[in-house]
Amino acid sequence: MKIFNSMNRRKEDFVPLREGKVGIYACGPTVYNYFHIGNARMFIVFDVLRRYFEYKGYEVTYVQNFTDIDDKMIARANQEGITVRQLADRFVKEYYKDAQALGIHPATVHPYATEHIPQIIRLVETLILKGLAYEVNGDIYYDTAAFPDYGKLSGQKMDDLDAGARVGVDEDKKNPADFALWKKQKPGEPGWDSPWGMGRPGWHIECSAMSMEYLGETFDIHCGGQDLLFPHHENEIAQSEGATGHPFARYWMHNGFLNVDNQKMSKSLGNFFTVRDITREFDAEDIRMFMLSAQYRSPLNFSREQMQQAHASLQRLYGARDKILFLMEDLEDRALWDEENAVKSRVDDCVAAFEAAMDDDLNTAEAMGALFDLVYLINTEISEKSAQSLAQYALTQLHKICEVPGLLLKKPDELPGDVAELVEKRAQARSDKNWQGSDALRDAIAALGYLVEDTPKGQKVRRLT
Ligand code: AMP
Ligand code: ZN
Repeated sequence: MKIFNSMNRRKEDFVPLREGKVGIYACGPTVYNYFHIGNARMFIVFDVLRRYFEYKGYEVTYVQNFTDIDDKMIARANQEGITVRQLADRFVKEYYKDAQALGIHPATVHPYATEHIPQIIRLVETLILKGLAYEVNGDIYYDTAAFPDYGKLSGQKMDDLDAGARVGVDEDKKNPADFALWKKQKPGEPGWDSPWGMGRPGWHIECSAMSMEYLGETFDIHCGGQDLLFPHHENEIAQSEGATGHPFARYWMHNGFLNVDNQKMSKSLGNFFTVRDITREFDAEDIRMFMLSAQYRSPLNFSREQMQQAHASLQRLYGARDKILFLMEDLEDRALWDEENAVKSRVDDCVAAFEAAMDDDLNTAEAMGALFDLVYLINTEISEKSAQSLAQYALTQLHKICEVPGLLLKKPDELPGDVAELVEKRAQARSDKNWQGSDALRDAIAALGYLVEDTPKGQKVRRLT
């Protein structure tokens, strides 16, 4: 499997640190609001990464944190007249609701920043001891000039950073690029006891502390949105490698933005839709389908037309699944003929193409193409063959690969009420030998998107594909 490693800016073979195991850390949400579908892109993409490793037989430890303390958390809690903890509890619950609807598997661990204060303090102490951090009136800063590798992820040079950061320089810092590891408590803010007095952790140090707590000093993959590459991930490297002297994450993966009119969807621009907004109009699985229509590093433009297309594709996928289930009962249970064996190997070709696309830096756009080649095969050749084991094989393979994108989650449909009613009327018409009425009812059922067929066992109905 090849992964584009943001550290070296090229695709590299993925070699796990420990055979058969993979440790992944993904920067999670700040829990002060519902998450928007830009955030959802990141959660879905890396959920698919994790699912794909599981599909390949790896034992995955997937860690996604909750940032439950920062300026935004404090501001929102004050605005609502509740504590930061109450605010976090509320939006963590909402996170789980949306994540579940979107088919995002819970991480192995979802650590909270505020539950790792001792680990954070230890890390800051180590950095001070190593001469990589300094105190100014109860605030602790990272001394970026003291860490020679600073800038290695983002490719920024210290001189450029200094020049870029001239505006609004904090007088207390030695260097404009220096960032807070620990912030002194201000009136009305929550605080924790520390060797430097009451205060709270900075954002970057949380992720260093939590990733190393659950995955070790060196681990396989660190993920996040492209906006986190600098400074957040650059700072995580400086903190972690500075403190331990060992390499931190071996692969860095960054997803591209979800855009609206070619602008990043974000809370601050106000151009965002929450998952809640969209699920009033579309099925949550449509959102998943839409997200996977592009490779994760490409920008992806959000529009209702794109969502409708995703919806139509998903209908086609379900249609093929339902069709095969419908056919199955009447097929013969016998050995495959040569021609059927040839079709069976075309099923294998689709699966192989799916895996090859996923192995190529998680190219879900191409993988979906291979999945829909299988859908096409099911709707055409496989539907025309009469051996049960061939249909069963295609169905099993379809379900197997759909585990990776996390699609086909719904059970075969019950008939919608209006369709069921017409089907019942048609049964009556047929027993009355009213053939004209029966044909008219078949058309009415077709107009609702269902196909009715007469078999020796009576009528059978399925979704039109
Ligand atoms: P936040 O809660 O803003 O810190 O974001 C949580 C995660 O979502 C981060 O990894 C961000 O990089 C990612 N993210 C935020 N906005 C977008 C967007 N428009 N497209 C893709 N990822 C995003
Ligand atoms: Zn992070």
